[in-house]
Amino acid sequence: MNIILLGPPGAGKGTQAARLVEERNMVQLSTGDMLRAAKTSGTEMGNKVAAVMDRGELVTDEIVIGLIEEQLDGDNKGGFIFDGFPRTLAQADALADLLASKGKTLDTVIEMRVKDEVLVDRIVNRAAEAAAAGQPVRADDNAESLKVRLMAYYKETSPLIGYYHAKGQLQSVDGLQSIEDVAASISGALENVS
Ligand code: ADP
Repeated sequence: MNIILLGPPGAGKGTQAARLVEERNMVQLSTGDMLRAAKTSGTEMGNKVAAVMDRGELVTDEIVIGLIEEQLDGDNKGGFIFDGFPRTLAQADALADLLASKGKTLDTVIEMRVKDEVLVDRIVNRAAEAAAAGQPVRADDNAESLKVRLMAYYKETSPLIGYYHAKGQLQSVDGLQSIEDVAASISGALENVS
């Protein structure tokens, strides 16, 4: 089963993706993680995108589509979780083409709904906890970049809700529930399409 987790920054996509990897043997494809890895290892592409990411803006469609394309080959029984991709309509079209060209399908899109105030609190807390534990704080987990990330979500990514709804592929879960209850809601959504 191949699925998209769709939702604003701080919605809990990464948390739920990690559980699906554990419990269902799925493979998580997070463009955010891939871009951060490129940034840390100082590849040419990583250096190119670093400042854009730190400001909270989107990197180009071309770069992220390329990253996803590199990962789609090969068999994996559990399927893919697309996390943080697609983020624009152009990326959604590209994903449809890529999957079709590899004989794969998109089974469902799960939208995780969370109110803005909660998103800001979660991200500010995540940064504070990391700092207190002496762990690295994401360069884009600050008030200014967060505002840009939320704007990018509403402007570029939220149109995907209508896009997938129109295709009959959208399911929404309440992301304000506990982690366990969100996981249960996602399991229910996966049952609907299996
Ligand atoms: P968030 O917590 O904001 O959802 P991610 O970890 O998914 O963040 O991504 C971090 C940053 O990486 C984004 O703000 C953006 O700069 C870049 N990025 C990640 N995925 C994409 C994408 N699909 N298209 C464009 N930029 C992306």
